[in-house]
Amino acid sequence: APAENPQVVVDAHGLPYLNSRLPVRKRVADLLSRMTLAEKAGQMTQAERNALKSQGDIATYDLGSLLSGGGSVPTPNAPEAWAKMVDAYQLRAQATRFQIPLIYGVDAVHGHNNVIGSTIMPHNIGIGATRDPAVAEKTGAVTAKEVRATGIPWDFAPCLCVTRDERWGRSYEAFGEDPALVTAMETVIKGMQGSPSGKDLDRNDKVLATAKHFVGDGGTEYGSSSTGSYTIDQGITKVTRQELEAVHLAPFAEAVKRGTGTVMPSYSSLDILGDTEGPVKMHASAEMINDVLKDRMGFKGFVISDWQAIDQIPGDYASDVRTSINAGLDMIMVPTAYPDFHRTLRDEVTAGRIGEARINDAVARILTQKFDLGLFEKPYADTANADRIGSAEHRAVAREAAAKSQVLLKNDGAVLPLKPSQKVYVAGSNADDLGNQAGGWTISWQGSSGKITTGTTILEGMKKAAPDAALTYSKDASAPTDGHDVGVVVVGETPYAEGIGDVGNGHDLELSAADKAAVDKVCSAMKCAVLIVSGRPQLIGDRLGDMDALVASWLPGTEGDGVADVLYGKRAFTGQLPVTWPKSAAQLPINVGDTSYDPQYPYGWGLTTLAKPPAGGELTLKALALAAKLLEAAGRADSPEARAVVSQARLIAQQKIGQRVTEAVAKPFADADHLLLGGDVTGAVAKLTAAYRAG
Ligand code: BGC
Repeated sequence: APAENPQVVVDAHGLPYLNSRLPVRKRVADLLSRMTLAEKAGQMTQAERNALKSQGDIATYDLGSLLSGGGSVPTPNAPEAWAKMVDAYQLRAQATRFQIPLIYGVDAVHGHNNVIGSTIMPHNIGIGATRDPAVAEKTGAVTAKEVRATGIPWDFAPCLCVTRDERWGRSYEAFGEDPALVTAMETVIKGMQGSPSGKDLDRNDKVLATAKHFVGDGGTEYGSSSTGSYTIDQGITKVTRQELEAVHLAPFAEAVKRGTGTVMPSYSSLDILGDTEGPVKMHASAEMINDVLKDRMGFKGFVISDWQAIDQIPGDYASDVRTSINAGLDMIMVPTAYPDFHRTLRDEVTAGRIGEARINDAVARILTQKFDLGLFEKPYADTANADRIGSAEHRAVAREAAAKSQVLLKNDGAVLPLKPSQKVYVAGSNADDLGNQAGGWTISWQGSSGKITTGTTILEGMKKAAPDAALTYSKDASAPTDGHDVGVVVVGETPYAEGIGDVGNGHDLELSAADKAAVDKVCSAMKCAVLIVSGRPQLIGDRLGDMDALVASWLPGTEGDGVADVLYGKRAFTGQLPVTWPKSAAQLPINVGDTSYDPQYPYGWGLTTLAKPPAGGELTLKALALAAKLLEAAGRADSPEARAVVSQARLIAQQKIGQRVTEAVAKPFADADHLLLGGDVTGAVAKLTAAYRAG
């Protein structure tokens, strides 16, 4: 109501589309009927704010949207500066004939990672490790509140990639390798947008989500380029139709059900096995965008291209524009060539190579979201929640997520949790580095090491968790190691985004020489726990034998306190592997369900330090009984069905391994699985049956 909001736009022209009491559908139809082709083309254009030749171009080209790509931040990089910047652009849009508001978009992929002082969540791979849809939803809600408080109503997240090969530099943007897990974590969309109907989008704590990258971004082949270079990022996904549906499309069907406002196609190409067509760039795939996403799944939002992605479609620029828009793209992230795009789009429509109906559909979709977001009524930033950015309340959510994301892979002799009375030796490149534990997409696109924002490192968290504990910190483990009870060595990757990642360490998932040296020094001198802070599994090799405990910490974000919570037993370890942990580079790619599957730790593995594992134990025993029955049945029969039953049983076993159970309960599964892989069905059945009876 106007009384509550001084920014409300009174329907100055008396035109129906400005009447907020009319249904959105009617407002859209009214506005659309008044717009020129140039105005429509403008709505379909998204420029990068740094690429604007002048702010006046917003009106000149009737730009529908602006974005800040990675690294494009205002100075100073503070919440108020963001809101002011976005409002200044909006002012230009408000000076156009119909006052159509701009929609500003940003990548906030683990919290509002563009703003110094914001709350940085674990990257998605850690959220996947929590297996907790409530956690995913809460992190989405916090992110949305922080983003909208800076005047930004649109977030290019979540990434729904299903990673099939962790040599891909975007692996950490995925919730995991299993489509069921990815789908379960899509509560994050609810956290961001609220109701699937879009009715909550005009709230000052909600944003439009973007399900990306449609489709198959996580399935690209390693080194599949014709030139021989490693193009796993933006490469080719070769799949059967069945695999495409079950693995890569399924999460998007769920996102559509959850009402995601936008979808972003993938840079990658799709090569459906058995089809004669050969690889098709996703931005050119009418079959996937028009037919599958819009027609079959019933997606009602709009499709935003990825950054300059249409330029990769074979052919000249006019053909890129024509092909992508006709394939179902509604808005193009240009980001610098907005005058060219605007002109080319108009020319193609005038020449009849893009139909009027297609343009009207695209613009109607964009306007619908703008109306739903309440931007026509409140175009400017509502900064009421600005003081919540990086607040204690929000950090508590990130801390809980970080704690629940920790996966305890090994814990011989119950080294963890630590006791406050123990004398601890802390070492390793990632023990005291906020930037490294936040990873890429933090403050800048690639992220960077060091104190880049506000938060606690793992070391700082440990000091807070056990203030009286005697603690030695020596990053390179050069300090004398004698006299300590236990070592904590925190190693792993340095930040990167996209590409193959972490080229400094090589893309072979090996620890750096310095990290290896620190592990060797500490683990040979005392009992040790090794924490791996990384966006994906790292190859441990023979060193595993020297480690008493091993933890996959992923990229926990700004709240090192959360990691310290589980290290000191303030919370139990409950995380489970969202991806398979390989033994060697030769095993890559490796995924649960592979015919020969002999990983270091299987998908789903994770020990718990819960004193008394609750429901999980019983659940596991039930699954165990079922697996035993299936195996027994399979052992008797000799048919393709039987083999299917065996592999089903193996899947169940693998997925139940470590389901919040103690190692004692998990072990029979691991043993049975091992026997099964060796072809010893009878042995596996015997193991499971014995464990079931004993349990
Ligand atoms: C990435 C997208 C991102 C876009 C805008 C691209 O490089 O692939 O995920 O949303 O940039 O920053």
